[in-house]
Amino acid sequence: MSYIAPIDETKFWLYEVLEAKRLFSLSNFRELKKDDLDLILSEAAKITSESIYPLNQKSDQSPAKLENGVCRTTPGFAEAYKLLIQGGWAGISGDQKYGGMGLPSIVTSCFNEYFGSACLSFSLLFLMNQGQIDALENHANEDIKNIFLPKLNSGEWTGTMNLTEPHAGSDVGALTTKAEKNSDGSYAITGQKIYISWGEHDLSNNICHLVLARLPNSPKGSKGVSLFIVPKYIQNKEDEWLLENNVKAISVEKKMGMHGSPTAVIEYRQSRGWLVGDENAGLHAMFTMMNNARLGVGIEGLSQCELATQKALEFARNRKQGHAKIDNRKGVILDHPDVRRMLITMKSLTAAVRALCLDAALSLDLSKSNDKQLASKESARASFLIPIAKAFSTDIGCRVADIGIQVHGGMGYVEETGVAQVFRDVRVTAIYEGTNGIQAIDLVGRKMADSGKAANGLIDEMKLTISNCSHHEDQQIREMGTRLSKSLVCLESTLNWMLKQEDFNNRLAGATPFLQAFGMILGANYLVKAAMKTDALDRKSLAQFYCVNILPEMEAYGVISQSGQKSLYNFTDNFFGFSQ
Ligand SMILES: Cc1cc2nc3c(=O)[nH]c(=O)nc-3n(C[C@H](O)[C@H](O)[C@H](O)COP(=O)(O)OP(=O)(O)OC[C@H]3O[C@@H](n4cnc5c(N)ncnc54)[C@H](O)[C@@H]3O)c2cc1C
Repeated sequence: MSYIAPIDETKFWLYEVLEAKRLFSLSNFRELKKDDLDLILSEAAKITSESIYPLNQKSDQSPAKLENGVCRTTPGFAEAYKLLIQGGWAGISGDQKYGGMGLPSIVTSCFNEYFGSACLSFSLLFLMNQGQIDALENHANEDIKNIFLPKLNSGEWTGTMNLTEPHAGSDVGALTTKAEKNSDGSYAITGQKIYISWGEHDLSNNICHLVLARLPNSPKGSKGVSLFIVPKYIQNKEDEWLLENNVKAISVEKKMGMHGSPTAVIEYRQSRGWLVGDENAGLHAMFTMMNNARLGVGIEGLSQCELATQKALEFARNRKQGHAKIDNRKGVILDHPDVRRMLITMKSLTAAVRALCLDAALSLDLSKSNDKQLASKESARASFLIPIAKAFSTDIGCRVADIGIQVHGGMGYVEETGVAQVFRDVRVTAIYEGTNGIQAIDLVGRKMADSGKAANGLIDEMKLTISNCSHHEDQQIREMGTRLSKSLVCLESTLNWMLKQEDFNNRLAGATPFLQAFGMILGANYLVKAAMKTDALDRKSLAQFYCVNILPEMEAYGVISQSGQKSLYNFTDNFFGFSQ
């Protein structure tokens, strides 16, 4: 089976619904024209569909292997990597001043989607690189920028993110890796980091690790964490970056999926690193880039929705089984109502998360406007949307991949079709870059610390859609507006309930269903808006399907969000197996 990048779908959302042309008025993207954008999308579609996708199944079957301290990647990755970096894709989002392409987040997101669908494990290398470039651009001094950014943008070197330690996962502030200042102004880093994606590999000349570590006498917890750039190789006497820096991959994990991505345990022994940003402000620096990185993981969820859907459709168009009692039978499983329900669910959820992720990306881009009012509004909007884009899209990625297996019947459970790989690969997206539970906490905590202003901004946008529906000549659209309106009442009352809770644990107890509810209704809003932008029957039918078949779940989530902590803590220790 082939993978075809959904370029027409991308363009529909970009230009028709999300009005991405707003970008062209921003000073930083003024030189960008629609024709350039179209060309970039075509090139991204071509390279990912033709050169990367053929490696996907190979990456699953020939995982990265650690041999004598060097990690050998899947055969074929090295050639594809060369092709990608020749095309400048490593520096897609990097500032042009340092050799990047300087493209907006929304374009990077489209590329990331296509690349993720084509081979998720390989695309993670580029996502990590983008994250590092972003962090250095925003927080490093000019010397560091001048050394590292051109090489990261060209792909000669690659970047990683090192937060996690055995006792510091979600609670990053618990980390113990040490940093001590050297006499030359650099720092000696000592400690162990785990689960480092692309922490060791054989594709680039150097691997640069962004490491969170703790200086002596630094404040406890997250306030005492600093950020360092620590390359695998540092300069020798001849100024060549060839000297070993005591950065060692001591193992590579065997994982459920993402086999092509080496996930390494990295040991640092007095490794030389340079401070990025201020001392003890490391988490702040990491947070700036997290918006992009979390959105990137949301896009990973989307990429697997698209891949699973393409695979399921192809199977359902060809598999003959049973005889449905319908007109115009094709004689394949797509005739059966239950199979149709699965496929349309996959299609509609994929459309919803694509719109959500691209919308968040566009807001991030608009937040860089010189118009301060617009920038501040879009920045708050993006900050609110990003935990939803990350968690909702990756949960939906898992759901759609699961349905994809069901569509295939027994063949879904057999590795040959590749759909089991999609299911295994996508699962981690709900875990890394802050688990989806942590995203939900972020949403009901930091992102609602504005007394619900950003949330209400999105609610107002949905009210506008409802108002547009109510004046619409098409009765089907008017009905969708009514359904959206009913769900919005539920969302508003849930939001108000959340904001009123004096005991924050009540909010935390409902955080995940609240995030789901918000994601689900945003999805409806995008699909209904899309239905109003075109006469295409399928677009309208898809929105209607979502409003009737998916949106009611939102109201259930709204109710669950308000169940409070008591429903969770009203149990004895015995219930959970603690001995008395
Ligand atoms: C394949 C893979 C690649 C990865 N790549 C990287 C990488 O490149 N760099 C890196 O630094 N890390 C990476 N990680 C680590 C990843 O980010 C962590 O696994 C993740 O943040 C969760 O941490 P943990 O595994 O310690 O789980 P824990 O933090 O122990 O969490 C276990 C469970 O408890 C929940 N939980 C924990 N704390 C709270 C809380 N306060 N409130 C509510 N629920 C809570 C979590 O949501 C989760 O469900 C990777 C992990 C994997 C599996």
